[in-house]
Amino acid sequence: MLIVFAAICHKPFPAHYNNMNLDDVNIMANRLTAFQTLERHTRRTFGLALTTKCSVACGHCINDSRPGGNTEIALAQIDKLCNEIKAFGEFDTVNMTGGEPFDNFDLLNNATRIIASYGLEPTVVTSACWAISDEASRYLLTELYESGLKFLVISRDEFHEQKVPHHFVVHALRNAIQVGISPALTLTTGVGLKGLDDLLKPISEQLGSDKFNQIEIMESNLLRAGRASQLPPEKFGDAGVHDSSPFYCHVGGPILLPNGEFVACCGAELPISSPLRRGNCDMINASDMTRSLKKDPIVRMIRYLGLRRMAELLGPDEFSPTIWSFIYSANPADMCTVCNYLLAEPSRVARLRYYAQNQDINSEMTIIAALLYGDNSALEEKLCV
Ligand code: SF4
Ligand code: SF4
Repeated sequence: MLIVFAAICHKPFPAHYNNMNLDDVNIMANRLTAFQTLERHTRRTFGLALTTKCSVACGHCINDSRPGGNTEIALAQIDKLCNEIKAFGEFDTVNMTGGEPFDNFDLLNNATRIIASYGLEPTVVTSACWAISDEASRYLLTELYESGLKFLVISRDEFHEQKVPHHFVVHALRNAIQVGISPALTLTTGVGLKGLDDLLKPISEQLGSDKFNQIEIMESNLLRAGRASQLPPEKFGDAGVHDSSPFYCHVGGPILLPNGEFVACCGAELPISSPLRRGNCDMINASDMTRSLKKDPIVRMIRYLGLRRMAELLGPDEFSPTIWSFIYSANPADMCTVCNYLLAEPSRVARLRYYAQNQDINSEMTIIAALLYGDNSALEEKLCV
């Protein structure tokens, strides 16, 4: 520890670090709506990954879920989580994901009941692989509605399409609306992928416009992580072309994983020493974990400074030439991989924490926090000093 600290203290503030420029402001302005939409959906939501099992096994799955996945969260851990976040008061929704949550329907139904019993809103993300008919869909969704489910989000893109037919999605959406569960579609789109209109057309035609208009539509980008890292470059659009965007990530967590571990985000599998891993739920209170997460300088840097600047701060000497060249030519699909490279070594993390104390960097993060996220807390703290 002493050696790392000494090395950091003798490392001057990097000369190659550039302060925020107008390009960043333009990119920021272009992305403001997307950021605000994401923030609105995640700010008061705690993620809960129920299982690593998924019978669908899509080619682009970033958490590598598969039929043989056998890790499942314990009901006692869900109960403890809900108790703690209800008392904390900053969350009103628990969003269940996986794997495929419907692959263990009893677990999904019991989790829904526990979440609702604390006055929190249960929501679920699914592929709709279980919606084989209207009758089967109505039966399962009625059970979940009676247990308290509020929102059904169906993932859709060209990869899900290969495994789950359109009419399964239509069964799920139609019956969600009929039993009283709000429906949504989340679509993974991008330059090299099937577009929004092509994905929605067969669903809207079968569902009819009156029901289709009740569905919330969200879009997200393909990430080159997990099994998606095996996909050909053309699926990621402009792969290999230098992208100058700052790579802000809103770090959309926190999430409780099926193995009982808290993590800061739903990105690709995190390195063992990553500060985005926040400990086991049996040992830590969810509210304490969330408070420390929000204040963590590394999380603030990812949100407000962006991964590109964090890499610039560390500089090329910190990485092998191959990794530095990857980081330099990365596009937005590579954000999680870049993030994992930056945070894979404790010495890099320690150095970033040191840089986070710099006054210029702090000022920049404070401004971005206010502009992009509407988070004025750091500005208000300065006013109080
Ligand atoms: S993307 Fe979703 S449906 Fe596809 S394999 Fe992963 S968890 Fe299963
Ligand atoms: S970029 Fe980093 S913080 Fe953001 S989702 Fe990926 S791994 Fe998580």
